[in-house]
Amino acid sequence: MGKVTGFKEHDRLSAPYRDPLERLTDFDEIYTDHDSDRLATQASRCMDCGVPFCQSPDINPLNARSGCPIHNLIPEWNDLVYTGQWEDALHRLHKTNNFPEFTGRVCPAPCEGSCVLGINSPAVTIKNIEMAIIDRGFLEGWVKPNPPSSRTQKHVAIVGSGPAGLAAAAQLNSAGHQITVYEREDRIGGLLMYGIPNMKLDKKEVVNRRVELLRQEGIEFIVNADVGDGTNGTVAVSDIASQTDALLLTTGATVPRDLKIPGRELNGVHFAMDYLTANTKSLLNSDLQDNQYINAEGKDVIVIGGGDTGTDCLGTSLRHRCNSLTNFELFPSPPSK
Ligand SMILES: Cc1cc2nc3c(=O)[nH]c(=O)nc-3n(C[C@H](O)[C@H](O)[C@H](O)COP(=O)(O)OP(=O)(O)OC[C@H]3O[C@@H](n4cnc5c(N)ncnc54)[C@H](O)[C@@H]3O)c2cc1C
Ligand code: SF4
Repeated sequence: MGKVTGFKEHDRLSAPYRDPLERLTDFDEIYTDHDSDRLATQASRCMDCGVPFCQSPDINPLNARSGCPIHNLIPEWNDLVYTGQWEDALHRLHKTNNFPEFTGRVCPAPCEGSCVLGINSPAVTIKNIEMAIIDRGFLEGWVKPNPPSSRTQKHVAIVGSGPAGLAAAAQLNSAGHQITVYEREDRIGGLLMYGIPNMKLDKKEVVNRRVELLRQEGIEFIVNADVGDGTNGTVAVSDIASQTDALLLTTGATVPRDLKIPGRELNGVHFAMDYLTANTKSLLNSDLQDNQYINAEGKDVIVIGGGDTGTDCLGTSLRHRCNSLTNFELFPSPPSK
């Protein structure tokens, strides 16, 4: 624990997002630059709890919530950031987390909901600190391709390149197996690429950077490869299975939840993923110049559902310059504070 009285001396101060009126004019990330001094102060609020509920997914008797599902060593890297040892903090972060630049941006941060300090004071800004550690790691050149020193001559095929497929690929590759990832889309990343919009997770700078690193570590990626029974242009799963020692299916969910209600069939009613995927594809292909997306400009938009997906549709509609926007949500509004 860096500073014994840090949590008594300092209030929680989250990293600000870009000004709303400015960020609505583009699809760039909403985050601002990291402020190392402020982050060190925030890290000093960590109490290095004897039982750190932040990093414990299963044993949280305080309430029904539980901490980090991948057991991030949170108090350790909080302390290292407080004492200015950023590279060591990066090593501790990578011990449990293949892709902190993704989780630092878009994880819902159950760690903060479980932080013991949160009992009588706002929680430690764990997610901000995580993102700053990995971003600095890339900036300083500390994150480098780390291919395995020897190969096992075992070949593993992975179908689907979302976070599940990528994490499996990274782990199995580091154990020395030869990995091929098959993806039916034209870009790697699953919902990291075509679900979560660019303003929350940049595709070129952040997602592609990690995919390139994995490629340099020896992982082979094959896009536009829809794995199926071998008919209708699909790649036969039987062929893949016969050429590999193991086959992983990490294909995600894909199937949307429909609302079977009168009017559902009308023009202008879309599934969120059709809207979000086409928008990101058009953004990356042509900076939205090809008109290959559903444009909400000037429209009165209704978004049904107020979770991550609904929020992403709100943010995208606003950036399209919709005329009005109404969001329906089952649950009551969250408290204002
Ligand atoms: C709009 C949206 C926003 C979200 N925002 C957040 C967020 O902010 N924070 C958060 O923690 N979670 C968020 N999520 C949830 C998160 O994205 C998912 O839980 C996560 O992506 C699931 O990972 P996955 O690898 O299992 O599947 P996916 O990411 O769905 O990846 C599966 C991949 O498999 C490919 N595939 C499927 N079938 C085949 C086939 N037959 N052949 C070849 N490839 C195939 C698909 O094309 C896809 O690329 C969001 C989800 C959505 C939809
Ligand atoms: S629960 Fe909060 S205060 Fe305790 S170790 Fe984790 S981050 Fe630090």
